[in-house]
Amino acid sequence: MIKVLVAGALGRMGTEVCKKVCSEEGLELVGGVDMRAATITPAEGVSVEVSTDLEAAVKALQPDVVVDFTRPNVVMGNLRKVLPLGVHCVVGTTGFKAEDLQEVDALAKAHNTGILIAPNFALGAVVMMKLCEEAAKYFSDVEIIEKHHDQKLDAPSGTALITAEKIAAVREAHKQGHPEERETMAGVRGGDYEGIRIHSMRLKGYVASQEVVFGGQGETLTISTDPVSRECYMPGVALACKKIGSHVGLVWGLDKLL
Ligand code: NAD
Repeated sequence: MIKVLVAGALGRMGTEVCKKVCSEEGLELVGGVDMRAATITPAEGVSVEVSTDLEAAVKALQPDVVVDFTRPNVVMGNLRKVLPLGVHCVVGTTGFKAEDLQEVDALAKAHNTGILIAPNFALGAVVMMKLCEEAAKYFSDVEIIEKHHDQKLDAPSGTALITAEKIAAVREAHKQGHPEERETMAGVRGGDYEGIRIHSMRLKGYVASQEVVFGGQGETLTISTDPVSRECYMPGVALACKKIGSHVGLVWGLDKLL
């Protein structure tokens, strides 16, 4: 059995992860951590304590894996506590900067542990990114429109960023649009990742959709993904909990474990 502790256990994603861990063969939920203590019942007959001190919980419960779905401003502090204790990490929290990724990679290697950071655990998103890499070989220009619920704290989404990175890796960086275009309202052309424009919508009603629109001569190609519930992330999280133990250092993106 792989023992799992969930950080952010009372949140929207953490709640789903606790349920999934309880129903998944080979995984055992040993506890949770959040901003307040609670007793949760993620499955019939299963009662688990949520405490408020991550380091103390890891030392007491000795999990094999800590799953983190907390907040962009919290996750680095959590990883700086957990990785030195030699515990593997599976991270869905978004908002990492390039220097954060370097730091956790070094920290994990120094303590002989593995950490997966996946901006998107949904299979649809992973396949969408693969299709985008392929399409980018044939279409020179592309814009990404990501659409999330209005409680999301970071923008652009981690998925939009990793999609842009993957597209940028298979094309020459170049400025898109008219060479002399100018914004008469700040930000209307979106963010710029090596010439790829990223637009972040935040509206009640969305979960986490993304459209990637490629433009060519006389045609466009749109690749999109629409999760309809948070359940779509759970098979990826369970798989990551089972596989991360055989890695050392940072694994960036779920596709590397599939
Ligand atoms: P949420 O606000 O519902 O949950 C976050 C939880 O973390 C809350 O319960 C909060 O109390 C808790 N928390 C805050 N500070 C904490 C701390 N110091 N220690 C422990 N717990 C703490 O948010 P959510 O919708 O569940 O999303 C969580 C994160 O996951 C976000 O960054 C979001 O973008 C990301 N996300 C990732 C994926 C993916 O596939 N990778 C999918 C959906 C959401």
